Amino acid sequence: MMDFHCHLDLYPNAREIIEQSEKRGIFILAVTTTPRAWLGSKRLVGNAKRIRLGLGLHPEIAKDRLDELSLFDLLLPEARYVGEVGLDGSKDHRPFLEKQRLAFRHILTSCERSGGKPLSIHSRGAAKLVLEDLRELANSCVPIFHWFSGSPTELEDAVKQGGWFSVGPAMMASEKGRRLISAMPRDKVFLESDGPLAKRGGRGLTPFDATESIKVLAEIWSEGVGVASERMNLAFRNFVRELPGQALAQ
Ligand code: MN
Repeated sequence: MMDFHCHLDLYPNAREIIEQSEKRGIFILAVTTTPRAWLGSKRLVGNAKRIRLGLGLHPEIAKDRLDELSLFDLLLPEARYVGEVGLDGSKDHRPFLEKQRLAFRHILTSCERSGGKPLSIHSRGAAKLVLEDLRELANSCVPIFHWFSGSPTELEDAVKQGGWFSVGPAMMASEKGRRLISAMPRDKVFLESDGPLAKRGGRGLTPFDATESIKVLAEIWSEGVGVASERMNLAFRNFVRELPGQALAQ
């Protein structure tokens, strides 16, 4: 099982979470929010076997960190995964979309140049723009749409563009989220926590909440938990096999 989008470096008890996840064999994609956070996160993760780091520039802070794009490019060759990246068109962040887009397109272009990377993508209130940029820079990445909240038509487009999806307890808690999840191809869906930023009852979600949410997902899919987990593990193996430079990505 897995947590495909987790801000591991933001937990006060990150070490304990890493140790527990390793014990339970949970795969974690630990996304970062700025290129500057990469080195610290790398030290934190150490040689944990099932944890991968994403090199990121979060759209909510991209406008203030454009100067870190050169560091992003410098670190990109050693990053197997990229994230969290993307665009945020919600009320507070919409005014800065132009700067966000500059960063996102820069990142996509760099990824394309480096042969393509798996990307954990944020697209709140901006699915249309994200999909436009991905279409234009089609060889930049294998997109993993994190907490996708676009329209059903945008979801169809994301699927057409070869998108994968990571969904978690926060998304499953809303009717709209559950409806979108039902419309996703089942063999393209992974679990995520988005913790500790995403919360439940005031507590930051953890990778263990992500893996537990397979039960809710199985309910949404009207099938047994065993069937749902089996399919997801198979999907994960297929995902890794299809990655650019997959020998390294394993
Ligand atoms: Mn996130």
